[in-house]
Parts: sequence; structure tokens; C-alpha cells
Amino acid sequence: MSLTLSVDGERWRAHLRATAERFPGLVPVAKGNGYGFTTGRLARRAQWLCDQDLAPTTADTLAVGTYSELPEVAQRYAGSLLVLTPWRPFGPALEATADASLTRRLVHTVSRPEDLTDLLSRRPDARFVLERATSMQRHGLTARELWGTAEVLRGRGAHLEGVALHLPLGQGTHVTEVDRLLNDVVGAGLPEAEHDRAGGARTVWVSHLSAGELDTLRHRWPDFTFRPRIGTSLWLGDRDALRVHATVLDVHAVERGDAFGYRGRTAPKSGHLLVVSGGTAHGIGLEAPTGDLGLRGRAGTLARGGLDALGFVRSPFSIDGKQRLFAEPPHMQASMLFLPGGSRVPRVGEEIDVRVRYTITTFDRVLVD
Ligand SMILES: *Cc1c(COP(=O)(O)O)cnc(C)c1O
Repeated sequence: MSLTLSVDGERWRAHLRATAERFPGLVPVAKGNGYGFTTGRLARRAQWLCDQDLAPTTADTLAVGTYSELPEVAQRYAGSLLVLTPWRPFGPALEATADASLTRRLVHTVSRPEDLTDLLSRRPDARFVLERATSMQRHGLTARELWGTAEVLRGRGAHLEGVALHLPLGQGTHVTEVDRLLNDVVGAGLPEAEHDRAGGARTVWVSHLSAGELDTLRHRWPDFTFRPRIGTSLWLGDRDALRVHATVLDVHAVERGDAFGYRGRTAPKSGHLLVVSGGTAHGIGLEAPTGDLGLRGRAGTLARGGLDALGFVRSPFSIDGKQRLFAEPPHMQASMLFLPGGSRVPRVGEEIDVRVRYTITTFDRVLVD
């Protein structure tokens, strides 16, 4: 009845370990739907990575996306918890700030000058990173604002854990941009690490840098420590370790003209309707129609008896290696597919492959062997 993610555990863990070795100081990211695995499972796996014999800081911190995600991970992972969404003086950020049991582990992201003073007035011992705006233009302090925060922090003994940079997905190299931003950091004169702690202004938390770019930056900025935050290429970096399948729940033979479905649509020709597990609740959506929708293309598919020309849309489900068409838009937890006559008809209970976007899919089961 379910949409299932099956994980080749040995292969997956080998990839996680290899990635952690390639990116010393790695900060695993577990947010959203946990890249399909759930954040709770990723938190346990991050603890496993932390317990491996790797570079000392590797996986000593886990990044979550939002404050609301903390309860899912806090009991399953013992290290520091970096929240990527910047702190604001409202909502779940305030609740987490007030929770004394989290103070020692929590690392806030501060992206506006007024939030820094506000956070420190509520919790002078709060741990935090300062986010510097990048070409992403999402959140972050300008160079001038960074100077201002250095003034605020001077002599305060605040727990500055570093500077955060959220870079766009790699198009070309980021080294030039990071160089420029680090010049701002140096220019701002932020306090160095205090209390014999790691951190201080010379720790830089980054995203979307390749191992090569990190090597280059470590050579150019030998006084700095780089902490790569990685989600996708860690958890989903070896797709061959992952398999997604649905189950055939029902099969109905139809003749041309037979009505079916929520909308009383009629079958364009004889074949089979398949009811398979997986629907909108899992994140299964309509995909673009197949082929060329231009007039010539349409005429061509019509001539070939193409179902897509009749408004059938390609589904992410495939049978015998062939991607099949939705008979109608996916339902909440199941989908109806149309299988034209002449194709092998799968039996009820058979597993079929599904192509999904992991970051938007909710699986009923995740099986790691
Ligand atoms: C999501 C996120 C990451 C990780 O991104 P991936 O592309 O999944 O590796 C890193 N930094 C920030 C600020 C993020 O929001």
C-alpha cells in the first residue's frame, strides 16, 4: 500500500563516510522532509558519522533548516545544533531561545544588526554565527553592518561561532566571491575566539563549495577554519544506493469508450487501468506531457496513436523500464495509470519503479538494509 524508499545500507554508509572524509569539518544538513529520509533518521545517521574516526570537528554540529525542526533531531543527535534560518524576535525562534536545556547546544544564525542586540539581551550566552550576505541575496549582513556588529561585540565575551556564507549552487567558481567576503570579515575586526573555544570570526560556515574550492580557500586563508554545510550531495550523492518503488494495488481491463475515474473520462482504446500506490500526499505530481506539443508533433503522435496527444500525461511510474501515463491526475494516496493493450500487465502486488524528487517526497516506508 505504500511508496517505499529502499536503501542499500552498506553502499549508502560508505558514501556518507567517503563524503565526510573528503570534507573535513563537515556539517550535515537535515531539514525539510529530511531529503526523503526524515530529519529524525538523518539525525541518528549524523550521530553515527560523528562517532566515526574522522577529523575532530566532522559532524560535531548538525544543521537544521528551522527552529520548528529542533524537536525531531535534538534527542537523536548529541552535538551542536545550527539553525540555518536566521533568528528573528518572534515565533519558534523565541521559544527555542527561552528553552534553557538547548542553550549550550544551539547555534543561532544572526543576519540583522538589531537581531544581534535583541538576542544578546535575552541570552548573553547565546551561541551564534553572523551571516554575511552573498550574491544569493537571501539573508545576511552587508559589509558595513558587519563592521557595526564588531562594535557591538567588542569586549562583550559573546559566543561568536563564526561567519556564515550561503552561496548559490555552483556555476563556475565561488573562490573570488568568498575571497571578497572574507576580506570584509577581516576588515570588520570581529573578535577572535574566546573562552578557549573554537569559533570566533575565523571560522567560516559555507555551502555549495566543491572539495577543490575548499582546498584553494584553505591555502589562501590558512588562519581560517572552513565548515562545509552539506545536504544533497551527502544524503543523496549516490543515487545507485537508493530505489523507490510503488505497488500495483488493482488492475482493470477496459475497452475503448469505457468510463473511469473521478472525472468520468473514457478510455481512448482498449488496455488496462492500473491503480498503484503513491499520490499527491506523497508529493507525486503531474509531469509535463510527453513529446512535442506543437502542431506537427501532435499530428505525429496522433498518427502513431500516441496517448499523450489525447491529453494523457506522463507519470513518474515505470513498468518494464517504460515510463507510463497517468489515466487521470494522481489521487491523494494512489494513482491511476493507463496501460495500452499489448503491454505486459503487471499483477496485483507487483512492485514498480518510481522516479521522484527526493526533497519533495514523503515516503510511507524507508527501508535501510
Ligand atoms: C539547505 C542549505 C544548505 C545545504 O544545501 P544542499 O544543497 O542540500 O547541500 C546549506 N546551507 C544553507 C543555508 C541551506 O539552507
